Amino acid sequence: MVIKEGRGIFAIDMKKKVAIIGGGAAGFFCAANLGEMSEDVEITILEQGKEFLSKVRVSGGGRCNVTNVCDEPRELIKNYPRGGRELLGPFHKFATADTRWWFEARGVALKEEEDGRIFPVSDDSADIVNCLLKVAKSNGVRCLTHQKVTSLKPAGSGFKLQVSGEEVFFDFVVLACGSSKYMNDMISDLGIDIVPPLPSLFTFNCKDRRLRDLAGISVPNVEVSIEGVTDDQSGPILITHQGFSGPAILKMSAFGARSLASSSYKFEVKIDWLPAWSGDQIISRLRAEGKRKVLGKYDFLPNRLWVQLLEPVITDPEMTNASLNKTQLESLVSALKNSSFSINGKATFKEEFVTAGGIDLREMDFRTFGLRKYPGMYAAGEILDIDGVTGGFNFQNAWTGAYLIAKDIAEKAGSI
Ligand SMILES: Cc1cc2nc3c(=O)[nH]c(=O)nc-3n(C[C@H](O)[C@H](O)[C@H](O)COP(=O)(O)OP(=O)(O)OC[C@H]3O[C@@H](n4cnc5c(N)ncnc54)[C@H](O)[C@@H]3O)c2cc1C
Repeated sequence: MVIKEGRGIFAIDMKKKVAIIGGGAAGFFCAANLGEMSEDVEITILEQGKEFLSKVRVSGGGRCNVTNVCDEPRELIKNYPRGGRELLGPFHKFATADTRWWFEARGVALKEEEDGRIFPVSDDSADIVNCLLKVAKSNGVRCLTHQKVTSLKPAGSGFKLQVSGEEVFFDFVVLACGSSKYMNDMISDLGIDIVPPLPSLFTFNCKDRRLRDLAGISVPNVEVSIEGVTDDQSGPILITHQGFSGPAILKMSAFGARSLASSSYKFEVKIDWLPAWSGDQIISRLRAEGKRKVLGKYDFLPNRLWVQLLEPVITDPEMTNASLNKTQLESLVSALKNSSFSINGKATFKEEFVTAGGIDLREMDFRTFGLRKYPGMYAAGEILDIDGVTGGFNFQNAWTGAYLIAKDIAEKAGSI
């Protein structure tokens, strides 16, 4: 409780003090909403860096893939290798359509892309950054940079934070500090379980003769599998200078994040380049086009890829399909539907990467995103052991958690 002079008399300021640790997507969305919802709180964002929302700024290749068209909670949760089950309830309260409405109602025009991703019409992440800054600041949020939180302790009905050498009391604390070993250790010292962090959303390094000079070639739909790892993943694949990328690979990296880490990123990946065709259908199509058709000229796949995948079978570029014996036909089908590549390492997908691991989800009450062990303490965004595949799902996790935290604090502070 602070006593301050106001309107000529001494007034008692009953505002509850809220500290938001981290000025990223989750921190700002929480602050902006809470500022709009309640006049009974004094909100401070404590950001250790020199600027706010730095990841939002670089996100989606500078365009910010803010969310996705997928809005049905049961469908939406399928995009979360970790945390999907826990997000089902929260998505019934605040999901992708709410995010779109939120930004559009505050002046950011959004557009859908063919694959369901949503971006600002301007293709400029600055629109999202400026909107969040404006809404927070116009609602009285104190936004402070160069303020690293170095200790966090429960104290009476609230918490004491050590910031820039000073100890400050807050009634509520929101952990919106992203993935950080420093903060993980601090949180773990409070007796809160942390799942060890690991990278998710990465590309696969592969040096294979069949991929030579193919960088830039993509195939719209393949099926990718890794023995003993996870479900098969399908979607577009892109051949890069380092190996493989594209949605099918990124999904596999996310769903297989833990197993792939335990293999030190050395494993065999199998690719079905033509999942829509059975082996028999491929053979029938070869035969249907006549015995004289040169094998290298079929258009099942981009031509150079087709030719290089079939190198073990097409020994002579002028070979016709009539010259294939049964064993060669079987090898041809296997080279297309079951082609195996040795992966040796991973690389960063520059458009978006994320960390699996963080606060163990059993520590959380997902009705409010509050920590079960510490009433008044909340967590949202990448600090949680929740991560999504590419497509705007990681931001959606941050927006949903942050919104529900704001709502709960506003209710507890007495204004809703
Ligand atoms: C290159 C890139 C592109 C991406 N693109 C997309 C995309 O287009 N769509 C999408 O959905 N997701 C995208 N993501 C993922 C998305 O950016 C994250 O999931 C999201 O930013 C997480 O938000 P957050 O607020 O939890 O954490 P952050 O954005 O990481 O914010 C946490 C903040 O807390 C601060 N902090 C940490 N410790 C302390 C401390 N002790 N004291 C004070 N401050 C502290 C940090 O400095 C940081 O500013 C991308 C990620 C990357 C790396």
